Amino acid sequence: MRAAVLHQPAPIASRPLAMEDLPVPGPGAGEVLLKVEACGVCRTDLHITAGELPSLRDSVTPGHQIVARVEKSGQGVESSRIGGRVGVSWLGGVDGTCPLCRKGRENLCDHPTFTGYSVNGGYAEYAVARADFLIPLPSDPSATDLAPLLCAGIIGFRSLRVAEVQPGDRVGLFGFGASAHLAIDVLKSWNCEVYVSTRGESHQQLARSMGAKWVGGATDRPPVPLDCAVTFAPSGDVVLAALASLRKGGIVAINAIHLDRIPQFDYDRLLWGERQLRSVANMTREDARDFVALAAKIGIRPRTTVFRLDQVNEALLAVAEDRIDGAAVVVP
Ligand SMILES: [Zn+2]
Ligand SMILES: [Zn+2]
Repeated sequence: MRAAVLHQPAPIASRPLAMEDLPVPGPGAGEVLLKVEACGVCRTDLHITAGELPSLRDSVTPGHQIVARVEKSGQGVESSRIGGRVGVSWLGGVDGTCPLCRKGRENLCDHPTFTGYSVNGGYAEYAVARADFLIPLPSDPSATDLAPLLCAGIIGFRSLRVAEVQPGDRVGLFGFGASAHLAIDVLKSWNCEVYVSTRGESHQQLARSMGAKWVGGATDRPPVPLDCAVTFAPSGDVVLAALASLRKGGIVAINAIHLDRIPQFDYDRLLWGERQLRSVANMTREDARDFVALAAKIGIRPRTTVFRLDQVNEALLAVAEDRIDGAAVVVP
């Protein structure tokens, strides 16, 4: 099979992924072999490929927004699952036994499996995944429309939960890439007022066209105090801009696995008044089920730019350079 392989992390512009011919992997016990239909590009793939997250293996195939058909079932997996359409996201498995798993917080598991990071992911013709972490998907939408829902969508949705968004709230979205452009549809379905701060004229225009009440630059403060905000840009300056936009008691959820740094800030002015700063780590299977169901109900259709598998380096570069409105998707 054709697969994109990262041997040595390097700047995205140096096109670090190598296209290789590899044997089709066999599913182990409790696993399935998947024939990949599409795989979305996530900012985390950039951090892995560029080495901003530490390498966990000698080589890895990234990609963790996989839409696929079950091709083969491993030992202990019902063969009736063969042919079914499923999704695989970032959380590829947990131990189920650590203290956090036992408290229902599997997103924080001490021994997690991360798709396309600790195990091979979806920038390939085939992938192997744990059967109990497959996300059932509807059969109607195209694979390229479903792929961005699987991390950008699910973790964006989790971010809204972490920010404790209530219906009708004034909500800030700082950054308007793949994740935010899916979150805005959820917020509109909850009758929220959405304020978007983002760089790039085309991202700003997309936010306006999708119903943002106000749109400004990356660190601009909305004209009214916000009930809560989610930051998507991997920038500590943006986090502080979001914090400065909150009313008392408001919450900022940081949807970023990696931040450059958070500058020193003034506690009295920015955090006092029971304002909260929270990170959003990974996702649970419940988040995945709830978001996929909601997306089907309200009819979320991402804006996508599709790349062939052998163009995967170009896809990563386009996301890194903010040239994609919506989400980039790779198709084998
Ligand atoms: Zn992701
Ligand atoms: Zn655990």
